[in-house]
Amino acid sequence: MANNIKRPNGTEDVLPKDIHKWYTVEKIARETAESYGFGELRFPTFENTDLFLRSVGETTDVVQKEMYTVKAKETEFTLRPEGTAGAIRAMLQNGMLNEALPQRIFYIISCFRHERPQAGRLREFHQFGLEMAGSPAPSADAEVISLAKNILDRLGLKNIELHINSIGCPTCRAKYHDALRAYFEPRKDELCDTCKERLVKNPMRLLDCKSPEDREIAKDAPVILDYLCDECSEHFTKLKKYLDNAGIAYTVDPKIVRGLDYYTKTVFEFITTEIGAQGTVCGGGRYDGLIEQLGGQHTPALGFGMGIERLLLVMDKQGCDYLAPKKCDIYFATMGDAALEKAMELSRALREYGYFAEYDLMGRGLKAQMKYANKIGAAFTIVLGDNELEEGKAKLKEMEKGEEVTIYLGDKFAASFEEVYFNKMLDFMDEETGGNGSLFAFTGEDK
Ligand code: ATP
Ligand code: MG
Repeated sequence: MANNIKRPNGTEDVLPKDIHKWYTVEKIARETAESYGFGELRFPTFENTDLFLRSVGETTDVVQKEMYTVKAKETEFTLRPEGTAGAIRAMLQNGMLNEALPQRIFYIISCFRHERPQAGRLREFHQFGLEMAGSPAPSADAEVISLAKNILDRLGLKNIELHINSIGCPTCRAKYHDALRAYFEPRKDELCDTCKERLVKNPMRLLDCKSPEDREIAKDAPVILDYLCDECSEHFTKLKKYLDNAGIAYTVDPKIVRGLDYYTKTVFEFITTEIGAQGTVCGGGRYDGLIEQLGGQHTPALGFGMGIERLLLVMDKQGCDYLAPKKCDIYFATMGDAALEKAMELSRALREYGYFAEYDLMGRGLKAQMKYANKIGAAFTIVLGDNELEEGKAKLKEMEKGEEVTIYLGDKFAASFEEVYFNKMLDFMDEETGGNGSLFAFTGEDK
């Protein structure tokens, strides 16, 4: 075993026993986004490296340290470190931005960043993300933020705080950059090498540095909110009003600048303290200049990305409900070849109805088959042998209570099973409401 190949550091396998958790997040996120008019976009896992240099930004951690760039036959590509750049590239290339605005898309994707792996920080991780292009209005910011909040609520998450900030537009940022340079200049020798360079090229990036020393120095740095131009300031005020109207609580956090360069005006994060240091489950904001930067017409836009692994960490921790994992509805225990053939035939019919039916594929004896049925938690079992085939009927057993009913093995088998199955469901509901319904009011008789 020692020489077996292991998965790369910072990647994860999702096993069938856990996949229902992913389905839960994907289903709720997808349905919520659709109810706000977003449609799914699928786009490549890798893009031309330039796309990320031009959008994410050359002075960001993502571009400077975290990109997986591969050379294939002399051409260089980068595995997407995030979704926005590729999504916008696809919208542009397919003419979507010439259609009726706003254009709204969502995606469920894997992303790749060469980071130091730890809980909630992977090298391949997954995002549910979305983008809305075309609207400059603060109502669009409120729409996107409330959509994100809606997903978190519908997943049953508690204690997730919304932090918002405005990082202004190029106009306000010019003055702000001057203020930041003036603040950091006297202590520039104490900064890390990356930040020395950032001070020259893009001082706001200093506020995103992860080094504790630099953070300490940045503690009292001027805040962007004091430098917003009238337009940006009004945009932010309106957004706050819309959030208030919607009853969405938020904290204005002037420290949020986000890790990617393309943001303008609104930036936001949904944060929890329950899963350690990597507590941002969702991050996003407005990027009014990006589409133009990528060769399109000036088109204001915004979006967010949610880290699915981080969401699941919080959901597990908080004991949130997941969609029920798919379980065997009926197991056929068979004795002899003829019985096995009958089980195969009946299973075909059941599967047409959408049931999960199983029979022995291992050549096990009857006792071992029943043990297996118990182990996989089959809801019903049925034993088929020569007697049953001869009489054309068999005992269908509900495993939880051990009740049995006779069921005919003819053409109407699947329909009869369905009735018994629904009676079981009704019985469950009766129990929940304190009733006393009988599981087998109907016996599934073949007429
Ligand atoms: P962080 O500050 O945690 O590094 P970020 O600002 O780099 O996050 P974004 O680029 O905004 O993250 O990505 C959106 C979301 O994707 C994050 O809020 C987080 O939930 C998730 N995410 C980002 N990087 C990782 C990673 N390496 N592993 C797992 N999830 C991640
Ligand atoms: Mg990061």
